[in-house]
Amino acid sequence: MAAELRPYRASLIAVSKTQPAEAILRCHAEGQRDFGENKVRELVEKQSALPADIRWHFIGHLQTNKVKYIAPFVTLVHSVDSLRLLREIDRQAARCGRTIDCLLQFHIAREETKYGLSRAEAAEMLDDPIFRTLRHVRLVGVMGMASFTHDTAQIRSEFRTLRETFDFLKERFFPKDEAFRELSMGMSGDYRIALEEGSTLVRIGSLLFGERS
Ligand SMILES: *Cc1c(COP(=O)(O)O)cnc(C)c1O
Repeated sequence: MAAELRPYRASLIAVSKTQPAEAILRCHAEGQRDFGENKVRELVEKQSALPADIRWHFIGHLQTNKVKYIAPFVTLVHSVDSLRLLREIDRQAARCGRTIDCLLQFHIAREETKYGLSRAEAAEMLDDPIFRTLRHVRLVGVMGMASFTHDTAQIRSEFRTLRETFDFLKERFFPKDEAFRELSMGMSGDYRIALEEGSTLVRIGSLLFGERS
């Protein structure tokens, strides 16, 4: 996997949701350090039990009232989809004396889901004067999930849309900000397409750990 990602300079987030500690430790022993979880409770339990050099990524829907549990240690929140959530991450990060890196999650798939921003919503959020007052969060890019389909042309066009959204935001809001550079896209079934479309962070679960029960 690492060898496959190298030419693209992309990083692997090992999605360890539902996996037991032993599976994560095996992966850790092979040198993997970035792991992704989508449930706050599970993440908090694993973080306290597993090696301290693991970089934990939060990739699921995050409720504002649970931010406080992961703020002390989380490396990157992939799923920011409102200013309200970003403000709470900022508030909790300040309490911990940290700055937390975040990605804006976009809705790019055909499937109906409550989660993820449109480009217009993101622009509105970044134009909001409140956004500029936040000192303890740093936006470093975007995240999205493609449709669950075998139609590879559809998947490619959705990743391309996310890439274009990234370019739009970069140009309009972060032109001189080198930290804004991450495109979190690609899972077990579609990561090759994502890499071809410019992914910098692939989130892989079942391909690494086997199917989840
Ligand atoms: C579960 C999950 C993944 C990994 O899915 P696989 O198909 O097992 O690779 C990636 N991203 C998100 C947001 C997930 O919830």
